[in-house]
Amino acid sequence: MFSLLARAAIFSIIATMLALFMIVRLIPLAGGEVDFSAVPVKIFCPFVVIFAGSVYFLLQKRKLRQAISDLTFVHAQLAETHAELAAAYAQLAEKARHDEMTGLLNRETFFKAFGNTRRRSDTGALLIVDADNFKYINDTHGHQQGDVALLLIADAIRRSVRENDIVGRIGGEEFAAFLPGASVEDAMLVAERMRIAVEELRFHPGEGKYLPLSVSIGATRFRPNVALAEMMREADIRLYEAKRRGRNRVVFDIVREAA
Ligand code: GH3
Ligand code: MG
Ligand code: MG
Repeated sequence: MFSLLARAAIFSIIATMLALFMIVRLIPLAGGEVDFSAVPVKIFCPFVVIFAGSVYFLLQKRKLRQAISDLTFVHAQLAETHAELAAAYAQLAEKARHDEMTGLLNRETFFKAFGNTRRRSDTGALLIVDADNFKYINDTHGHQQGDVALLLIADAIRRSVRENDIVGRIGGEEFAAFLPGASVEDAMLVAERMRIAVEELRFHPGEGKYLPLSVSIGATRFRPNVALAEMMREADIRLYEAKRRGRNRVVFDIVREAA
C-alpha cells in the first residue's frame, strides 16, 4: 500500500508541476498576468484531485492484475484437471475394451476389431480356441486354480500370434483369434503353435502335482463376402470336430483333415 501511495504522490507532483508550468507560460501568452498569491491554491487543488484519481486508478490496476493472475492460475489448474480427466477416461475406455482377468480383448471388442479389420483384408483366418476338460480342473483343484490355468492358457495364446493379429476371450474358457492376411498354411502353423504352446505349459495346481493342459482349435478361412456369424459357425463346427476326435488338436478344414 505504501508503494502505491508513493507512486500516486510522485505522479500527482509531476502532473501538478506540469499544470503550474502551463499556467505560468500560457497566461502571459494570452496577455494576462499570473497571480502568484494564488499559487499555493493552484498547486494544492490539482494535487489533491490528481492524487485521489491516481490512488483510485492504481488500486483498480492492482485489482485487475490480481484478477488476471488468479484467472491464469485457475486456467492452468483447469487445464491440468482436464488433462487428468482425459487420461482417466482413456484408461477407463482401454480397461472397458479388455477382459479384466486375462487382459485380452473382451468378446464385444474382439468382434468390433474383427469387423474393422476385415474391411482392410481379403485373406486371413478365424480360430476358436477352447480349453479342454476345464470343468475337470475346476472340479478337482478348485475354481481358483482353474483361474491360474486359464491365465497360463491366455498367455500361451497371446505369445503364439503376430502383433497385428486380434485375440479375445469370447467366453469362459473360450478364445478367438483373427489372423488378417494369413494364408491357410500360415494359419495352420499359428494354430498348431498355439496348441503346442498350451501343451508345453507346466501347470502345478498343488504340491508337486503336475496337470497337463490342452486346447482344441476350430479354424476357418476368412472370406470378405461371408458374414461374421457364418464364419463363427464354421469355426465352431470344426472346434466340435476337434473335440470329437479326442481334443488337443486343430481342425481347419474338415475335408482336408479327413483326407
Ligand atoms: P470341453 O473339453 O468339452 O470343452 O470340456 P470343458 O469341461 O472345458 O467344457 P464345459 O463347457 O463342460 O466346461 C467349461 C468349464 O469352464 C465350466 C466353467 O466353470 C469353466 N470356466 C469358465 N470360465 C471360467 C473362469 O473364468 N474361471 C474358471 N476357473 N473356470 C471357468
Ligand atoms: Mg472347454
Ligand atoms: Mg467352452
